[in-house]
Amino acid sequence: MPNSLAPTLAETDPEIADAIRREEERQQNTLELIASENHVSEAVRFATGSVFTNKYAEGYPGRRYYGGCVNMDTVENLARDRAKKLFGAEHANVQPHSGAQANVVVFMATLRPGDTILSLDLAHGGHLSHGLKVNFSGALYNIVPYGVERKSERIDMGEVRRLALEHKPKLIIAGFSAYSRTMDFAAFAEIAAECGAKLMADIAHIAGLVATGLHPTSIPHADFTTTTTHKTLRGPRGGLIFCREQDAKLIDKWVFPGTQGGPLMHVITAKAVAFGEALRPEFKTYQQRILDNAKALAESLQSRGYRLVSGGTDNHLMLVDLRDVHPDLTGKQAEAWLEAAGIIVNKNMIPFDQRKPTQTSGLRIGTPALTTRGMKGAEMVTVAELMHRALSAGDDAAAAARVEKSVRELCGQFPIPRE
Ligand SMILES: *Cc1c(COP(=O)(O)O)cnc(C)c1O
Repeated sequence: MPNSLAPTLAETDPEIADAIRREEERQQNTLELIASENHVSEAVRFATGSVFTNKYAEGYPGRRYYGGCVNMDTVENLARDRAKKLFGAEHANVQPHSGAQANVVVFMATLRPGDTILSLDLAHGGHLSHGLKVNFSGALYNIVPYGVERKSERIDMGEVRRLALEHKPKLIIAGFSAYSRTMDFAAFAEIAAECGAKLMADIAHIAGLVATGLHPTSIPHADFTTTTTHKTLRGPRGGLIFCREQDAKLIDKWVFPGTQGGPLMHVITAKAVAFGEALRPEFKTYQQRILDNAKALAESLQSRGYRLVSGGTDNHLMLVDLRDVHPDLTGKQAEAWLEAAGIIVNKNMIPFDQRKPTQTSGLRIGTPALTTRGMKGAEMVTVAELMHRALSAGDDAAAAARVEKSVRELCGQFPIPRE
């Protein structure tokens, strides 16, 4: 399967074929520490590139607006059933094109323009679809942000409750893109009930942990749970929504025809494959390794003097505050220096950051992709060491090249698996 198209594509479209080949090499030879990324199985990639991409299947299984949908119904039913089983949910909609798109659906189903949403401050780890001013969420709705407490850098549930009772939001969002601690969905549900709000849990980052019981589930507590399928869940890029049976029709209608046209059936096919993989016992072992690796990486960075936001991690990610070790180094510059050494991360605001979002004082790093390659605790110690060397090398190109060589060697010992 790898490169199965490349021989023909190399002749018909060498520019693109070359870009694909280079990207395969880049992924193989760099350490992927972006917390929202992963390497999918070849089965998932095969399904994504399958003939299902040729077909229109507007509607739902048994109720399509196009002929010829018999195989579409098979895969969508399998995807839905497997998703429900995996998360213990009453209803699943597997059609959202992406995580942000899944959130659009819940907003349309629960809110009118101008209504109030209570969501995690973007500067404290929230996601842009939870209320960024230049996103539809911030443009259409009145956003009240909650944040982390200054000292503990953890979400302060007392503050969430106070804001909820004061502002009476219609929707409360429990979810994050850059927060390293356990989220208390039960406590959010109590607050939502007290102020008469609906609760949406966005588990985009932690879906794999939730599916395997390694993070408390949102499913019984939240009216709606949205997620991506491509982060810890290790499926194709896409979105997914869970709700109770009583809201099934509402959610389905706001996906189609409410906010989307034809579903990406090739991606839904790949989602079904990924959910099948996640239902196997090995998937729980994999998720546990992600957590063990995050702890090991966190401790190794801390032992080199790096401060982690909130002092550590309960999940697959951590936020590194660069200031103690490198007071003048921005997240932007650190990201570039690490990339020069073959270590791929993203700059990230730390709570109460003095620098702008385009500069930042921190980095967000996560272990899902390295864990997929089979790396364990000993490699996490090496990765922390390589990061520290790259950051200390700075503009010294020769020093960065030496780190890059070590990165390549480590990658060579842990090739991206086919399964
Ligand atoms: C990644 C993420 C999303 C968006 O997913 P896309 O597929 O990129 O649209 C939504 N919510 C949260 C919390 C995320 O981390």
